[in-house]
Amino acid sequence: MKKKLIKIAQWKMLTITMVVLMFFQFVAFAQNENTIDPCLDKKGDDYMNRQTTAFIAEIKKTITDLPPQYPLPRERYLGLLLIDAVLHDVHAAQRPAVQKFFHAQIMKAVNDIETTTVEEGAKIWQLYNHGFIVRTKSITIAFDMVTGESAMSDGFTLSNEVMCRLIDQCDALFISHRHRDHKDIWVAQQFLNQNKPVVAPPQVWEDQPIHDKITHLKREAHSIQKLPLENKGISIDVVIYPGHQMSSHENNVSLIISPEGISFAQMGDQINEGDFMIDYDWIDKVSEHHKVDILMPPCWTNEIHRIVKGFDPKLVIPGHENELGHTVDDRVPFWDDSEYLELTYPELKASDYPVVLMTWGESYHYRPLK
Ligand SMILES: [Zn+2]
Repeated sequence: MKKKLIKIAQWKMLTITMVVLMFFQFVAFAQNENTIDPCLDKKGDDYMNRQTTAFIAEIKKTITDLPPQYPLPRERYLGLLLIDAVLHDVHAAQRPAVQKFFHAQIMKAVNDIETTTVEEGAKIWQLYNHGFIVRTKSITIAFDMVTGESAMSDGFTLSNEVMCRLIDQCDALFISHRHRDHKDIWVAQQFLNQNKPVVAPPQVWEDQPIHDKITHLKREAHSIQKLPLENKGISIDVVIYPGHQMSSHENNVSLIISPEGISFAQMGDQINEGDFMIDYDWIDKVSEHHKVDILMPPCWTNEIHRIVKGFDPKLVIPGHENELGHTVDDRVPFWDDSEYLELTYPELKASDYPVVLMTWGESYHYRPLK
């Protein structure tokens, strides 16, 4: 009997303990539901918001005082490293200060593009991820223009209104490949609605009606093709290099030659590795066929130095830094993390090639040497 009472008491204790534990678990869960980072309590998460706001204030001041330039001043480099730090918070895209910064930077670019005419060379604006707008005296070309929805945060994604203002300024859109951080079907449709060509490899939207409306230029190394810009009444010279992101993804590397003779190439997610190295057959020889003023490679491609040597451009503007849709290790930072994919980025930065680093909404005016 005594033994039985002890057992009942033990059961009661166990039940009470479990109820208490469940209560605390519930409280903890309820707290985490109210935080951006579910691993932090409210105080910790509020701290992260305050720190992000403080860091971004310093970033804005630094990159305003020291816009994109070559050589890279140390203070601007430190500003870019602070961007890396802010954007390697797993939940960066959900933080209000990051969203505000992103939107303000893109709006700055929108206002700038709407009021800029280029008399000489080319002006290049970096948008989200590997998105660029390049304007010369006679044409404005968009590459991999997206809304930022790949960051998977509604408050981060750019509005249709902002995108329309960018699209209105451009004469054509080039999409490198089918990954969501490089293409957006709504954006492509707006270009088509304005009778502006959208050029992409066949794999992009291959099972959707829009596929018939996309311009599929030949993926052929070194060959110049004419692309009519009907809204301008001119044609531009284009080379679509038959690139790949590894063996499974067709990736157009587009070289545009403007009517003024300014040439610029955007490389999408170009990467070959291991047994699959076929693209170096043409990459190593681009400069034997074409003069390249500006090259926009992905910052994370392993052989970036070899690729740059193949194109031998006058200016390199890497893109794709800190893609927030990627895991933290794969948000390739401005400090280049050369251990990742065995990047040869340090060799490129140590070389004589001018490399200009830019973040969201920033721009650089390239003027060819006379
Ligand atoms: Zn990508």
